Amino acid sequence: MRQLASVQRIEALEPIPGADAIERARVLGWNVVVKRGEYTVGDRVVYCEIDSLLPERPEFEFLRAACFRQAIVNGAGETLLRGGFRIKTVKLRGQVSQGICFPLSVLPEGTPTEVGVDVSDALGIVKYEVPEELGGVRLPGLNAFPSGIPKTDETRVQNLGGLLHACRGRRFTRTEKLDGSSFTAFVRGAEFGVCSRNQQLDINDTSHAFVALAARLGLAEKMRAAGADFAIQGEVVGPKIQGNKYALAEHALFVFDGFWIAEGVHVSPSSLRALVASLGLDTVPDLGEFTLDHSVDEVVAMSEGKSVLNPKVEREGIVLRPLDPMRDDRGNRVSFKAINPRFLLKYEA
Ligand code: AMP
Ligand code: MN
Repeated sequence: MRQLASVQRIEALEPIPGADAIERARVLGWNVVVKRGEYTVGDRVVYCEIDSLLPERPEFEFLRAACFRQAIVNGAGETLLRGGFRIKTVKLRGQVSQGICFPLSVLPEGTPTEVGVDVSDALGIVKYEVPEELGGVRLPGLNAFPSGIPKTDETRVQNLGGLLHACRGRRFTRTEKLDGSSFTAFVRGAEFGVCSRNQQLDINDTSHAFVALAARLGLAEKMRAAGADFAIQGEVVGPKIQGNKYALAEHALFVFDGFWIAEGVHVSPSSLRALVASLGLDTVPDLGEFTLDHSVDEVVAMSEGKSVLNPKVEREGIVLRPLDPMRDDRGNRVSFKAINPRFLLKYEA
């Protein structure tokens, strides 16, 4: 899973034109602004990615004016997300800065400090994620994600390390990354199920937007008719989801993945389009294939542009996948995202 805070090395330091108190550091594939002179190239630091929520501790208090967020509490008085300091994308003296660096001394005594070590737990850092309010009721026993089907997730291009280079020369698919909510529907034997990002839903509870959408799309019948155990995974966008950035009148599903459950493999990018069409569904917008020969910064530049769903709004980013499926050295499918910096600067409230 994704590391929010980890020990990393300062790979490079560059001046920022017109700024003398700060400079630009390179950590993993990220550009991050640091105090000038605080680090030298090769230093190990604690690097916290964007979307880290830092706890209220004295060493982080200097961030209060810039990015303190109150705890999020629901109607029943339960805390859904605790308060703290939210690390986001900022622009300082014209330089986009993503994440934050701290000296290793911020770590509690005895924390390992080798490069790559995840120190999120040691520092009490969690992901800043605003919980969705999509209706529906949580049923006991139904709140787990079905086993045997992967949850959706994408690695950030900045965290690929040597893998980006290893992908050079390969043909890649490129789709628009939509800013909505992750949806999974599956058939397994007699069972048809619908899931949000992290939990299976009560299929009879049409007060949940996803269950209602699945019914409107006739997914149970269509997927059963396909005669195999499989899942489709996509992004739901529309009213009440992520501020409905694309200004849609009703919920819509855009499929970005399929998964053959018995075989335990993803549907290949070349077969996905036909599968999705046969179900009468839409895929996420296709931005065309290309041959990867790009640096991290070039992939990030490629992520900029307007949304196909609504050309008035910035797109969130792109998702890139090798046309011929490929695995990394941990055996995971290679697939990664690049987020449009303009989108982050606009919406990361
Ligand atoms: P994030 O939204 O930053 O957690 O990035 C990963 C998520 O992006 C996935 O879990 C999907 O829910 C979502 N997503 C939106 N559009 C796409 C797409 N075109 N391809 C893959 N995932 C996508
Ligand atoms: Mn998302």
